[in-house]
Amino acid sequence: MTTETQALAPAAELTDGFHLVIDALKLNGIDTIFGLPGIPITDLTRKAQGEGMRVISFRHEQHAGNAAAAAGFLTQKPGICLTVSAPGFLNGLTALANATTNCFPMILISGSSEREIVDLQQGDYEEMDQLAIAKPLCKAAFRVLHAEDIGVGVARAIRSALSGRPGGVYLDLPAKLFSQTMPADKGLKSLIKVVDPAPRQLPAPDTVARALDLLKGAKRPLILLGKGAAYAQADDAVKALVEKTGIPYLPMSMAKGLLPDTHAQSASAARSYVLAEADVVLLVGARLNWLLSHGKGKTWGQDKGAKRFIQIDIAPTEIDSNVAIEAPLIGDIGSCVQALLDGMGDDWVKAPADWVGGITDRKDKNLTKMAATLALNPSPMNFHSALGAIREIVKANPDAIVVNEGANTLDFARSIVDMYKPRKRLDVGTWGIMGIGMGYAVAAAVVTGEQVIAIEGDSAFGFSGMEVETICRYNLPICVVVFNNNGIYRGIDVNQSGGTDVAPTVFVKNARYEMMMQAFGGVGVVANTPAELSLALNEAIASGKPTLINAIIDETAGTESGRITSLNPTAGASKK
Ligand code: ADP
Ligand code: MG
Repeated sequence: MTTETQALAPAAELTDGFHLVIDALKLNGIDTIFGLPGIPITDLTRKAQGEGMRVISFRHEQHAGNAAAAAGFLTQKPGICLTVSAPGFLNGLTALANATTNCFPMILISGSSEREIVDLQQGDYEEMDQLAIAKPLCKAAFRVLHAEDIGVGVARAIRSALSGRPGGVYLDLPAKLFSQTMPADKGLKSLIKVVDPAPRQLPAPDTVARALDLLKGAKRPLILLGKGAAYAQADDAVKALVEKTGIPYLPMSMAKGLLPDTHAQSASAARSYVLAEADVVLLVGARLNWLLSHGKGKTWGQDKGAKRFIQIDIAPTEIDSNVAIEAPLIGDIGSCVQALLDGMGDDWVKAPADWVGGITDRKDKNLTKMAATLALNPSPMNFHSALGAIREIVKANPDAIVVNEGANTLDFARSIVDMYKPRKRLDVGTWGIMGIGMGYAVAAAVVTGEQVIAIEGDSAFGFSGMEVETICRYNLPICVVVFNNNGIYRGIDVNQSGGTDVAPTVFVKNARYEMMMQAFGGVGVVANTPAELSLALNEAIASGKPTLINAIIDETAGTESGRITSLNPTAGASKK
């Protein structure tokens, strides 16, 4: 215990539940809590701040939870989200489940009401069996009933969040725990500093040989980088593997920037071609889920013969989840990629020139087309012209972190805005979830200190919009760009009954989103042209002030569901 801790403890020789929780987190290098104070954890937030932790208070727990998850992804330390009982806990659950789905390490710590009353269902203040409800939505869930077990509870939570496939963990702390006291020296001894929570996991040598054999015979090899590869922070090894083999690669959206998107071997601008034509695919921390059409069907050129897969993943049960994986490589990405590099020796033959050349031709054609579209300057702006302006600014500020959500705003930004460095892009992730925007932006600014540019659809922004107050309160270098097209997908839908209500996808026209930031002392600007957008964004970056740019986009410009229109059930399709 530090001298300060002792000074804050209720009696010099005693410690209590509050202090043990704080000391256990600090002992494990956790210095920030994202949360929302209230019964029974209000004092925990005060005391944590008193003991030197950064406590970032949000306006809604979901955003605090998303911030914790993003912090976990960026730092490889579990992000902490702290909430009150029942309703606050439930508000945090979406983020907990989302973190687990995305393989981001986070710990949701919620206060809860008294076990004796909850278990007899006697109707306590905010009564709920939170542990039971959290369990199916996370990797692990724990409850601590005695102060002397806090050290173990926190250690179990940290190790569960970080080891193997990272994910969300729930830690239930009933109100009574916080005021329990115990001798300070015993309390100190009860704490655990977790040793090596995410140990290296070396792949078995025969699995490396099998993978190399398969790769060696490939005529049209492809490397697919997922956000697991970004999380792993094995950036140099991944780059070395790509460059040594000369194999074209595709980054999933949050793996963008692992190598700069402008890299000669990036096949992003020829995505459909390489997915359909490749014969051997090496997956690095990417799952063959819906985002990759489950590894089969037309996207993967099923008519051109079966693909053969090598998959690097830390989770053995991920293998064969959709299609047969011929060469699984189980271990952490750094160790697996290094093992492949070592096994290749000095005389490894680079990917066939005809395959690489064919991709380059297609890429060049598509990039020329894209450049022409970006050069147009329609009035009002469309997604392309607005993103063309942002693209140049991100290029000039490669350390800035881009947060991105929406439908069209997401799909277009993903392909138009190039990323240059690893872990600079945070987006809707595995679920394609809306509402991550301000939570991820706050976390990115808090844990990295870098400028954040949040590229937000107007609908997507609405989910977490109130957190602009949080951004202003902590004076964070976040510039939110709202792509305002008056609605979901487009702003032009009509009520099919002809009634007076507007269509379900339509918002108030010409909404003044910039005034939301002004309301809390930040900068709010309207941008009608790419030039105005560039000016405002550059000013935001130069000043580091909380800024919201209301970018006025042609309300007819979007498409229904962006690029996942195919997931919409069509009228009549379900009828017999
Ligand atoms: P994307 O959506 O970008 O394709 P996914 O989230 O689907 O990425 O896949 C990430 C994969 O990375 C998961 O299967 C996860 O188990 C794996 N993973 C996460 N961290 C590591 C790591 N350090 N080493 C190896 N695999 C990892
Ligand atoms: Mg919109």
